[in-house]
Amino acid sequence: MQQTPPIHRQRYLLLFLLLLLGSGFLATSLASYYAALETVRDNIVNTELPLTSDNVYSEIQKDLVRPVLIGSMMARDTFVRDWVMAGEQDTAQMTRYLSEVQEHYGAVTSFFVSENTHTYYQAKGVLKQVKLNEPRDDWYFRVRDMQAPYEINVDVDLANQDRLTFFINHRVFDYQQRFIGATGVGLTVDAVVQLIDAYQQRYGRSVYFVDASGRIALTGANGGPEGAKTGQMLSEVPGLAELQTKLPQPQSGNFEYQAQGRAHFLNVRFIPELNWYLFVDKQENGVLAGIRHSLYVNLLICLLVIGVVLGLVSIALRRYQARIATLATTDSLTGLPNRRGFDLLVNQAIQESRREQSPLCALLLDLDNFKQLNDSQGHLAGDEVLRGFAQQLQNNLRQSDIICRWGGEEFILLLKNTTPQQAHQLGEKIRQQTEQTPFLFNGTALQVTVSIGLSELRSGDALDHLLARADQALYRAKQAGRNRLCEDAT
Ligand code: GH3
Ligand code: MG
Ligand code: MG
Repeated sequence: MQQTPPIHRQRYLLLFLLLLLGSGFLATSLASYYAALETVRDNIVNTELPLTSDNVYSEIQKDLVRPVLIGSMMARDTFVRDWVMAGEQDTAQMTRYLSEVQEHYGAVTSFFVSENTHTYYQAKGVLKQVKLNEPRDDWYFRVRDMQAPYEINVDVDLANQDRLTFFINHRVFDYQQRFIGATGVGLTVDAVVQLIDAYQQRYGRSVYFVDASGRIALTGANGGPEGAKTGQMLSEVPGLAELQTKLPQPQSGNFEYQAQGRAHFLNVRFIPELNWYLFVDKQENGVLAGIRHSLYVNLLICLLVIGVVLGLVSIALRRYQARIATLATTDSLTGLPNRRGFDLLVNQAIQESRREQSPLCALLLDLDNFKQLNDSQGHLAGDEVLRGFAQQLQNNLRQSDIICRWGGEEFILLLKNTTPQQAHQLGEKIRQQTEQTPFLFNGTALQVTVSIGLSELRSGDALDHLLARADQALYRAKQAGRNRLCEDAT
C-alpha cells in the first residue's frame, strides 16, 4: 500500500484547518453581519419610515381638517345662499363676508363662485368670470359635476402670485338642494413644506409627494429626490431608473432600490384626501456602512487568527516531525545515527565520491569479546562501554565523516575524501586509544579492545559491496586474534 508522504499529510491537515476555521469564521461573521443588517433594515423600513410618514400625514390632516370645516360652514351659511338667491345685488356685502372669513381663520384666500353668473368673488372684490374652456377654471366645473360635497385641491393661487395652495372647494346649494355655486378657502402649503424640510434635515430623509400619474406634486424647499423639482415626472429623474422598474406607477408599500450606487429605503403611502402619494425615502447612511466596516474588521481579525493558528500549528507539526525523524534515525543509547539515519546520509556521500572521483573508505568496528564483558560486569556496564566508545569515536571524526551504530557492539565510520592510508591511520589511532583508555563504571575500570575492518569504495560499488568487504576484513582481524585492523584484501 502506498503511503502519503508526511509533508503532504501536513499540507492536507493545514488545508483542512484553514477550511474549517475559514468557513467557521466566515459563517459566524456573515451571520452576525446579516443579522445586524436585517435589524437596521427592519427598523428603517418598518419603524422609521412609517413613523415619518404617519407624522407628515397627521400634520397634513391637521392642516386640512380646519379648512374643511370652514368650507362646510361657508357652504351652509344662510347669508351666502340668501345673497345669491336675491340676485347677487351688492358685491361689497359678499367681499366683506369673504374678507371676514379669511382674516378670522388665517386663510390665504377665500372665495365664492356663482353658478348663475359664473362670477369669482374673493375678499378683495370680483376676481374674474370663470369660463368653461379656461384650463385654470377647470376646477370649478369639476366641483360642479362631482358627487362628493367637497374636494381638496392643490393648485396655484391666482390671487397670490400663483403660490401653491391647498383649496377646499365646497359645493353650495339653495334651500331646494339646487346647486348655486362653490365656496371655500385656500391655505398655503408652506407649513407642509416646512415640515418636509424639518424631516429632511433632522433625519436625513427625503420627503415628497407624487400624484397618481407619477408626477412630483410637492417637495421640500430644496426639491425632491436627486434634487428633482415639483412638476417633474419621477421617470425623468436621473438616477431613479431602478426605482422606476420597481414602481412604474405610484403604489403604497415598502421598496428598496439603488440610486447613484447607494441603497435607498422607501415608504410610499396613499393620501386619499389629496389623491397623492407620500414618499419617504431614506438613503443608506453611516449605519449600514458602519455594519459593513465592522464585518471587514471581523473578517480581518479572523484572517489574522487563522494565520496565527495555522502558523503555530505548522511550526508545532514541523518540530514534532523533526523530533520523530530524529528519534527514528538516532540510536537512543549512544546518540549516534542508527542504520536508518546512516542510510539517509550515505547514498549522498557515495554519489559525491563518484562524481568528484574522490576516495571513500569504510571502517567497520566491533568490540572484542563484548559478550564476556556483559556477562562478567553486567549489561549496564556494557552499555556504559558502548556510550564511552561512541563518544570516543565521535571525538576522532571530522565534520564530513559519517558515523553509525550498526548494531550491538558494531560501528561504522564512512570517511569521505579519505585514502585507505589515511583511513588506516585513523583506525589504528582509534584502536590504540580504545586499548589504552579504560571506561569507568561504578569505580571499576573496564578495559576493551576493538577489531576493525577497512574497505575502500571501488568504481561500480554499491554500499553493500563496500560493507561486505569491510566485514570480511573485520572477520580476518578477529581471526587473527582481535585488537587489530585489517584491510580488505580481495
Ligand atoms: P567478538 O569478539 O567475536 O565480537 O565476541 P563478542 O562477544 O563481542 O561477540 P558476540 O556477537 O558474541 O556478542 C555481542 C554481544 O553484545 C552480545 C550482546 O548481548 C551484546 N550487546 C549487543 N547490544 C548490546 C547493548 O546495547 N548493550 C549491551 N550491554 N550489550 C549489548
Ligand atoms: Mg559483534
Ligand atoms: Mg564483538
